[in-house]
Amino acid sequence: MTSATTPITQNFVTLPRKLPDGPINLVGLTREALKEALITAGSPEKQVKMRLGQLWQWIYEKGVRDFEKMTNLSKDYRAFLAEHFVIAIPEVVSKQVSTDGTRKYLVRIAGGHEVETVYIPESDRGTLCISSQVGCTLTCSFCHTGTQKLVRNLTAGEIIGQVMLARDDLGEWPAPGRNPATSARLLSNIVLMGMGEPLYNFENVRDAMKIAMDPEGIQLSRRRITLSTSGVVPEIARTATEIGCLLAVSFHATTDAVRDKLVPINKRWNIEVLLDALRDYPKASNSERITFEYVMLKGINDSDADAHRLVELIKGIPAKVNLIPFNPWPGAPYERSSNNRINAFSEIVYQAGYASPVRRPRGEDIFAACGQLKSATERARKSRKDIAAETGIHSI
Ligand code: SAH
Ligand code: SF4
Repeated sequence: MTSATTPITQNFVTLPRKLPDGPINLVGLTREALKEALITAGSPEKQVKMRLGQLWQWIYEKGVRDFEKMTNLSKDYRAFLAEHFVIAIPEVVSKQVSTDGTRKYLVRIAGGHEVETVYIPESDRGTLCISSQVGCTLTCSFCHTGTQKLVRNLTAGEIIGQVMLARDDLGEWPAPGRNPATSARLLSNIVLMGMGEPLYNFENVRDAMKIAMDPEGIQLSRRRITLSTSGVVPEIARTATEIGCLLAVSFHATTDAVRDKLVPINKRWNIEVLLDALRDYPKASNSERITFEYVMLKGINDSDADAHRLVELIKGIPAKVNLIPFNPWPGAPYERSSNNRINAFSEIVYQAGYASPVRRPRGEDIFAACGQLKSATERARKSRKDIAAETGIHSI
């Protein structure tokens, strides 16, 4: 590695701009940032557009991570790239496969932190549920991730890296001659419903999703990406204009008193303020409807009166209501509503003119369902603490 101030000679112009120490990871850089990085490292400006296009295709269309394999680049240029850059994605520490085909990846990111990524195959699609933060700053009382403190935001590279590692595992980088836009896809949809609150990591989530939606490379339509938020109102308008994906909102209650308890961010932006922000979303993002997620908690938010209030509240918003049977976790203070209750609730919403599907829990045997994600280290730490509390033995 040359030091940061060593002039870059070879066939390339010497630039005064200072490079950061160490190689830069190209994964997660937007097209603009990638172009800037190439120029700063000394790639001749005249060819940079072409180089950018070539690199982009190797990284995001073909899934290649080794500059040596980029055969349409000259040997000198490959050496130049290898000197300044790396193409790195997070490491899969372990993979569990459920009896229903769901795959859960434990993913290690820089600093030794861990997040979880879940792939859910269905007959007509394959959805990847990705994480945006290690832990979460919010403390929704029914969510396992909410019991883990926020450790840090994921970088854009770590967010798009989850898509890339899943494609590695699924063997889904196009073979030569295969058109990625028209071939059937194993990974056809992304939901930002893993660990973390995506709108508290807006820029990195946006940049990663722009890479996923880029017309070259991964090429997922913005209608196949759903971002789920607990209701970070100030970022909702930007989500429409700067990402333009579908929006899901963790609604979960029909009165402020109950929502304050379940989704404490409600104390900051209450139901009325949230609904006002949501009203503008479909038009601003040119998308059809918003998904209202509603976790079914026995005796808490699942009465007929709740269902009637819910349809009154969302009146006028193009919406569908996704009912999520509560997924239990050790020590959770709630129980799942009965199937009869969930069906009765769903029927009331449906009769009011809204689709009201009940989300079938997936990957329960591997603890991969919605709201059950928590890093293995955190789980281990928790159980050590529990054991210590139970036995009176304290770990140092
Ligand atoms: N932080 C974002 C996205 C991650 S959570 C958000 O809150 O929207 C993804 C979805 O799973 C949310 O709707 C969340 O409320 C729901 N969820 C969390 N814990 C759950 C649990 N134990 N059972 C069922 N759904 C849960
Ligand atoms: Fe965070 Fe979402 Fe869990 Fe709430 S439901 S604690 S916002 S991950």
